Amino acid sequence: MNDIKLKLEPGHVSDTDWMARFGLETIFWNITSACNFRCGVCFSDSGVPAAGELTTGEALEAIRNAAAAGVTDVVISGGEPFARPDLLDLLVSMKELGVTARIATNGTLLDHVLLERLRRETSVKAFQVSLDTLDREVYCDIHGAPATMLEVALDALRAMRELGFHTTVSSRVVPRTLPTLCAILDRALEERWATVTLHLPLHTQRVADAWPQDEDLIVRLEPVFNHFLTLRKHWVIETTIPWARYHPVIRGLSKRIRVAHAGCGACRSRLAIHADGTVTPCICLSDSAAHIGNVRRDDLGAILRTHPLADIYRRPAAHGICADCGNVAHCGAGCRTAAFVLTGRIDGLDGSCPVRQRRQKRGTVAHAEP
Ligand code: SF4
Ligand code: SF4
Repeated sequence: MNDIKLKLEPGHVSDTDWMARFGLETIFWNITSACNFRCGVCFSDSGVPAAGELTTGEALEAIRNAAAAGVTDVVISGGEPFARPDLLDLLVSMKELGVTARIATNGTLLDHVLLERLRRETSVKAFQVSLDTLDREVYCDIHGAPATMLEVALDALRAMRELGFHTTVSSRVVPRTLPTLCAILDRALEERWATVTLHLPLHTQRVADAWPQDEDLIVRLEPVFNHFLTLRKHWVIETTIPWARYHPVIRGLSKRIRVAHAGCGACRSRLAIHADGTVTPCICLSDSAAHIGNVRRDDLGAILRTHPLADIYRRPAAHGICADCGNVAHCGAGCRTAAFVLTGRIDGLDGSCPVRQRRQKRGTVAHAEP
């Protein structure tokens, strides 16, 4: 994911040399394409179940497959995960195998009773609730949902926090939500949500037409970062964008607040499973060019170790990607999903990288930046 997390409350932060990590730790799992909303900004084109979604038995087998491969953490999204009637059973099975879960949800199919059961019977530790705006009209329009759903989602967030779950609100940065993001930060402070995650949909095959492809969203977000820094509580900024540390706005921010770089775990410490069991390096990339297996038949650990595409993610310079840039050992040659969206090739160049853009303007190759 190309995310920037604005963390208000102290907690977990990842600031690792992600290029050095190798070994499956996390699965991103789009567990269903079913959803009770019809979001115009949907990241996964959801609404109805996908053809050939995993049955309960196959999903339980997928969990065993992941645990045997060393996975300790599963991030569940959809669609709307709670549209899947067997979700509680799957989560109980994860707990039995020592696997923790984090769930991305729109928050509207959850009530206090279900949340209490999740607390007691499962190892769910965190929720990420999609809340792109607090403006009722925009919310209804964007989510294709009745106005009352905004209050339902806010109530669910309150219950999650009261029950001790880590609460993140996630907002997709599109032209209609950008002006409303500061109000979400103010509400986060008021409601004691731990984190506001900004999803940058550009170059991730998702709502790709919401912005011109050469838009610099980090520059557009500068007023939101400045607002975050004025909040009475603001702890850390964490980004998963591989080249983020070289962006001038992020560099400026790092002089004012700790900025952590969690980077890209695709094919290093993470794989993605789609609703029909297809495995890809990254949950943002579902094109057939990125299919590296199916959890119905393939061992997840073996995919990570042996699939030729995985090697492109881990050793990009050996495949000629960004071999001209001195940052490649730390940056990993940018985002492979962005490269695919921009060039049609998974081993293409991530042209959204500011280092490459700067060097191309100057007519030189991309060397290391200070
Ligand atoms: S390839 Fe990596 S950086 Fe790009 S969207 Fe996927 S996880 Fe994020
Ligand atoms: S040119 Fe490539 S390796 Fe260099 S900073 Fe940009 S994406 Fe990373």
